[in-house]
Amino acid sequence: MPLSDDMRDVDLKFECPNCSYPIVRKGSWFIVIAGYICAKCRAKVRIGYQEKLAFFERHRKLRRQ
Ligand SMILES: [Zn+2]
Repeated sequence: MPLSDDMRDVDLKFECPNCSYPIVRKGSWFIVIAGYICAKCRAKVRIGYQEKLAFFERHRKLRRQ
Protein backbone atom coordinates (compact mmCIF):
# COMPACT_ATOMS: atom_id res chain seq x y z
CA MET A 1 0.00 0.00 0.00
CA PRO A 2 1.55 3.34 -1.02
CA LEU A 3 1.33 6.47 1.06
CA SER A 4 -1.73 7.91 -0.61
CA ASP A 5 -2.29 11.52 -1.59
CA ASP A 6 -5.48 12.06 0.38
CA MET A 7 -3.58 13.34 3.43
CA ARG A 8 -1.20 15.56 1.47
CA ASP A 9 -2.91 18.86 2.30
CA VAL A 10 -4.09 17.87 5.75
CA ASP A 11 -2.45 19.23 8.90
CA LEU A 12 -1.22 16.30 10.95
CA LYS A 13 0.04 16.34 14.51
CA PHE A 14 3.01 14.19 15.48
CA GLU A 15 4.37 13.97 18.99
CA CYS A 16 8.03 13.49 19.77
CA PRO A 17 8.41 9.96 21.18
CA ASN A 18 11.04 11.28 23.56
CA CYS A 19 9.38 14.32 25.16
CA SER A 20 5.85 14.39 23.63
CA TYR A 21 6.42 17.84 22.14
CA PRO A 22 3.97 18.08 19.23
CA ILE A 23 4.66 19.32 15.73
CA VAL A 24 2.01 20.05 13.11
CA ARG A 25 2.91 19.60 9.44
CA LYS A 26 1.12 18.85 6.20
CA GLY A 27 0.84 15.24 5.12
CA SER A 28 3.08 16.06 2.14
CA TRP A 29 5.89 16.94 4.58
CA PHE A 30 5.62 13.59 6.35
CA ILE A 31 5.64 11.75 3.03
CA VAL A 32 9.07 13.10 2.02
CA ILE A 33 10.98 13.23 5.30
CA ALA A 34 12.74 10.30 6.96
CA GLY A 35 12.82 12.04 10.31
CA TYR A 36 13.29 15.39 12.01
CA ILE A 37 14.98 16.99 15.00
CA CYS A 38 12.69 17.80 17.88
CA ALA A 39 12.64 21.55 18.59
CA LYS A 40 12.33 20.96 22.32
CA CYS A 41 14.59 18.06 23.31
CA ARG A 42 16.74 18.04 20.12
CA ALA A 43 16.23 14.30 19.72
CA LYS A 44 16.60 12.86 16.26
CA VAL A 45 13.17 11.43 15.57
CA ARG A 46 13.06 8.86 12.82
CA ILE A 47 9.78 8.16 11.08
CA GLY A 48 9.97 4.96 9.07
CA TYR A 49 7.71 3.96 6.23
CA GLN A 50 5.60 1.53 8.26
CA GLU A 51 5.27 4.16 10.96
CA LYS A 52 4.04 6.69 8.39
CA LEU A 53 1.44 4.23 7.12
CA ALA A 54 0.12 3.62 10.63
CA PHE A 55 0.24 7.32 11.43
CA PHE A 56 -1.69 8.29 8.29
CA GLU A 57 -4.25 5.56 8.90
CA ARG A 58 -4.78 6.78 12.45
CA HIS A 59 -5.49 10.33 11.24
CA ARG A 60 -7.73 9.03 8.48
CA LYS A 61 -9.89 7.28 11.06
CA LEU A 62 -10.01 10.39 13.24
CA ARG A 63 -11.24 12.45 10.29
CA ARG A 64 -14.09 10.03 9.60
CA GLN A 65 -15.59 10.46 13.05
ZN1 LIG B 1 11.36 15.91 21.87
